[in-house]
Amino acid sequence: MSTKSVDVVLIGGGIMSATLGTMIKRLQPDWSIVIFEQLSAVAQESSNPWNNAGTGHAALAELNYMPEAPDGSLETSRAVKINEQFQVSRQFWASLVADGVLPHPETFINPTPHMTFVRGADNVDYLRRRYELLRDEPLFKGIEFSDDPKVIYGWAPLLVRDRQKGEKIAATRIDSGTDVDFGALTQQLFDYLVSQGADLRLETQVTNLKKVKKDGSWDISLRERVGTTPYGMNARFVFVGAGGHALPLLQKSGIPEIKGFGGFPISGQFFRTDNPEVVAQHQAKVYGKAAVGAPPMSVPHLDTRVVDGQSSLLFGPYAGFSPKFLKQGSWLDLPASIRLHNLGPMLAVARDNFDLMKYLVGELLASKKKKLDALREFMPTARAEDWYLITAGQRVQVMKKDSKRGGVLQFGTEIVTSADGSIAGLLGASPGASTAVPIMVDLLKRCFPEQYGRWEKTLKKMIPSFGASLNSDPRAADKTLSATAKALVLTR
Ligand SMILES: Cc1cc2nc3c(=O)[nH]c(=O)nc-3n(C[C@H](O)[C@H](O)[C@H](O)COP(=O)(O)OP(=O)(O)OC[C@H]3O[C@@H](n4cnc5c(N)ncnc54)[C@H](O)[C@@H]3O)c2cc1C
Repeated sequence: MSTKSVDVVLIGGGIMSATLGTMIKRLQPDWSIVIFEQLSAVAQESSNPWNNAGTGHAALAELNYMPEAPDGSLETSRAVKINEQFQVSRQFWASLVADGVLPHPETFINPTPHMTFVRGADNVDYLRRRYELLRDEPLFKGIEFSDDPKVIYGWAPLLVRDRQKGEKIAATRIDSGTDVDFGALTQQLFDYLVSQGADLRLETQVTNLKKVKKDGSWDISLRERVGTTPYGMNARFVFVGAGGHALPLLQKSGIPEIKGFGGFPISGQFFRTDNPEVVAQHQAKVYGKAAVGAPPMSVPHLDTRVVDGQSSLLFGPYAGFSPKFLKQGSWLDLPASIRLHNLGPMLAVARDNFDLMKYLVGELLASKKKKLDALREFMPTARAEDWYLITAGQRVQVMKKDSKRGGVLQFGTEIVTSADGSIAGLLGASPGASTAVPIMVDLLKRCFPEQYGRWEKTLKKMIPSFGASLNSDPRAADKTLSATAKALVLTR
């Protein structure tokens, strides 16, 4: 039933497909690219600005990237790694700005200081020790610490106003943080791709994937959402950038590499306010400390968001559980993903994550008042009438086989590729969109070993730090941070 054969098919109109498509277009302009998106526009699922928190994750403020070990020690390597990854994304976006692909960076990225805010003597001590280690890391240059309420008030007054006198609080602040509208970025990257001849087919759902034995290509079954008969397409390479639906599609492809993987969906809500008086009093992304049992990405944060030029504040996320793998997915997503090969790992995860299950049930049952109480721990003056709840995107966390425990729940992302590199898909959600660029560079290396050597020169042009560690070279770190800040108009 294949009617046409193309070089690359990207399934899904989110930031991951947009990033990979743009890279391929820059590296190999003669390859034909077709994108299938089942909804009527791109960036309507996790990449939509109101479905995620828009943090340019660089571990500047998120404590989960630098947790305290059981013996109380702290270690910077994971935080540095996340920051390095974000610098790769920043450099790629900066190169696209310079080349006129993304002419208006202020439409998708804005300078927003990143802060961490904690309460209680133990947490204050932990935050101070974290700061003392990070201030010497070149990529964290300029980080400040204070346990003086007056200083913290100067940084973010809403955290301190009406707070009980004598309460032990502390905060760190770093100016180089960002708020990113990943929806606007996705849209602009697809606009570019289409202008360069890529074929974007909206309202077209990929229903099946079948390997063609004789040449290793893929036959893709398609269904247009409005009425017409199913049709097909053939591709040399397929990227499954279907967000939460990547798992079921990779299962349909039948590649052995997907065996043992399962998906654990976590839903979420945010509080949002657009009241200009409240919004004007807070210009930062402020991360707190996660509750016991909370998954790492459920750390509460009070954020400035800039979407379509308008500022709002967002607080959350409040996690919950829904068996859907996408916000607009099906209630059957989770049960339909269960296979003999992933049942064991999934049961092992249920057995070993009682605290998480308890936390999610508690969050699901939390009333609006309880949710407001959580916000008031950050912002004691929060008024119910200013804030309304919005539903965030679904995150499908990866469950996978583990030789010791039977199965583990993983909070990062995982690229799954077939042995011959003809198909790849992305599972998992964190650190997410911020690291789309390094994730896709890794994918290119794994799936296109023949071309990769030739592409490296162009990659180095687009990402000057390509292949090197910025943090171990203070001058290079400084130079890169300033150059990307200038190109992305992040200097104030
Ligand atoms: C609550 C929340 C907060 C987050 N906060 C942040 C943050 O602050 N910073 C950050 O960097 N990241 C964050 N993330 C993660 C980030 O949003 C995701 O990693 C990223 O958007 C994933 O992009 P994607 O392209 O893989 O998926 P998506 O944006 O979900 O796109 C997948 C697309 O595939 C389409 N699709 C699915 N199945 C099919 C099919 N069969 N046929 C055709 N189309 C199909 C869907 O309709 C969808 O448009 C957050 C995520 C959530 C849920």
